[in-house]
Amino acid sequence: MQPEHQALVSPPALEPFLLHNRLMRTCEICSGTHIRQLHRQDFLVPGSGEASHYDVVVCENCGFTFADNIPAQLEQSAYYEDSERHLHAADLPAGLAEAHRTFFEFVLATHPHLQKEAAILDVGSSMGHFLNRFKIAGFTNIQGLEPSTAASELARDTYGISVTPLALENYLPGHQFDLITLCGVLEHLVALRETVNRIDSLCAEEGFLFIAVPDAGNFGNQSPREPFLEFALEHINFFTARSLDNLLLPHGFRAVAKTSLWNDFYANHYLLALYEKHPATQKTIVPDSAGRDSLTRYIALSHARLSSIAADIDALRVSAEPIVVWGAGSLASRLCATTSLPECNVISFIDSNLQLHGRTLHGKPIRAPDWLKDKSELTVFVASYVYGDQIKKTLLDMFNWHGRIITLNPDCISQAVR
Ligand SMILES: [Zn+2]
Repeated sequence: MQPEHQALVSPPALEPFLLHNRLMRTCEICSGTHIRQLHRQDFLVPGSGEASHYDVVVCENCGFTFADNIPAQLEQSAYYEDSERHLHAADLPAGLAEAHRTFFEFVLATHPHLQKEAAILDVGSSMGHFLNRFKIAGFTNIQGLEPSTAASELARDTYGISVTPLALENYLPGHQFDLITLCGVLEHLVALRETVNRIDSLCAEEGFLFIAVPDAGNFGNQSPREPFLEFALEHINFFTARSLDNLLLPHGFRAVAKTSLWNDFYANHYLLALYEKHPATQKTIVPDSAGRDSLTRYIALSHARLSSIAADIDALRVSAEPIVVWGAGSLASRLCATTSLPECNVISFIDSNLQLHGRTLHGKPIRAPDWLKDKSELTVFVASYVYGDQIKKTLLDMFNWHGRIITLNPDCISQAVR
């Protein structure tokens, strides 16, 4: 690790490359190849049921923390799972709407001179939930970008917002934007530097960039609600306030304002940052050890949390009672790979995500909630923290559930109701 005060000049980017069907990355910030493993995250790839993993690593040169040695098929499956998830206004969870509200208020508070006619682009806009905040506030020149035709149609029909159904690399609008927003985007991307190059070309000189990402500098500051949540298979970049600066400074973006806000929905801190593209920006990066230290604490805290969940799952294995697991996403895939869940008597997985229906997890089918009709005697294991309460309510109200419902919570993993 370099001394904290020593600045590094960012060398040319080295692209991620494929090796035995796995994506190998060098540091996307400093191109450093000297990386050290902090943790190996095991999971099952949804659809294939195949056990896989990625490595959480730190760049010994600049301190950036990220996932390396990533299974190549993950990019595709994670992308679909994520981009199609909230494609109906009615399905937008209240917690996510609240996050969008705080993001929007941060932009207005830190950029008070933003004109109502400013050209605004939201990258990774889904169907325009976040952009609609701007529309309601009277902004007239707003544009979304999301590589999904369904998202584009829903944005038009629901909010009257234009969303171009293209990937960033294929988007050539012919003009630049005064403000570009990326909410929950940068933590997903393999080719980070290439993305920032594209963003740079789309941003007007003295234009602004708003970014919201999970705050890796805060991961280790409290016991996690869900163990290893931050290493969900679609999350592959772990930014601190400094490493986000280090990514953007070489492109001429300087920080105007930054804050770390607690987000109830995801039970983590989000880093919100506003950058200005300015010719006088000092284009050197400063090494940072905050990510390494925070992730090291987080990994220890997650192991402690997981061990209590694993003990309760083991009780289900011993009892061999037939169970249905509601939740076939990241958490279920991690539990299948790291606990005795696959040896339990699982008869089906349930998930409301249409993209997962018809697939399998560890050889067991993933079905829609409707399948539970007439099966209300079964035990349900709810493999979701974020939607746990909502799932329990659905079981009780819609299916008049009589069987045990086992939910997870930070203090007491399993609770039988009724
Ligand atoms: Zn680096």
